[in-house]
Amino acid sequence: MVRIQLDKIKTYAKNNHVPIMQDSGIEYILEYIKNNNVKKILEIGSAIGYSAIRFASINNDIEVTTIERDNNMYKEAVKNIKDNNLEDRINIIHGDALETNIDGKYDLIFIDAAKSQYIKFFEKYKINLDKNGVIITDNLSFHGLVEDDSKTHNRNTLQLVKKIRKYIEFLKSNEEFDTEFLKIGDGISISKFKNNTCNNL
Ligand code: SAH
Ligand code: MG
Repeated sequence: MVRIQLDKIKTYAKNNHVPIMQDSGIEYILEYIKNNNVKKILEIGSAIGYSAIRFASINNDIEVTTIERDNNMYKEAVKNIKDNNLEDRINIIHGDALETNIDGKYDLIFIDAAKSQYIKFFEKYKINLDKNGVIITDNLSFHGLVEDDSKTHNRNTLQLVKKIRKYIEFLKSNEEFDTEFLKIGDGISISKFKNNTCNNL
């Protein structure tokens, strides 16, 4: 049942060019959630609800709050969440994550929205991170362009590459967080509070 619904969502994503997480990336996060007893997840960028549904499907005590600004994506996500009977555990918010205020602490914050705003998302939502929680960010490789941008001459794309590199530098030099960078999927990072520097209590 769950399988069939997921295939449907994946096919829709493919046909409509919705950039849902790649298999290897999502598998890594699913393992992380299982191994670290993650219960509360905040996602920035729901798209059609694929990753939120995958997270919530791991166990029935997992709760996901997810934010999406695009109207059509939001509507499709609401439908998919309903089709998978996850309305009571996935709270989808329609709005711009930079203008949304979220209460409470989360074990995992997943940043998967506009790449040009990664630093802003990180700075805004770190107060919602549990002291033992992690912030995972997707698409830090951007199809390999972050490592080698010679494959594109598109100005907007190069601008985004620059922004992602800035975010990577921001994480590497961050005094509050330690970050691990993994070449999984389209490149992900995992940031945790450095020992004893949690000053958001
Ligand atoms: N996490 C999803 C994929 C998200 S794609 C999955 O793996 O299944 C990125 C989404 O972020 C897009 O749907 C886009 O509309 C949304 N987005 C971009 N900037 C945003 C913002 N500032 N606030 C909310 N959503 C945003
Ligand atoms: Mg992504």
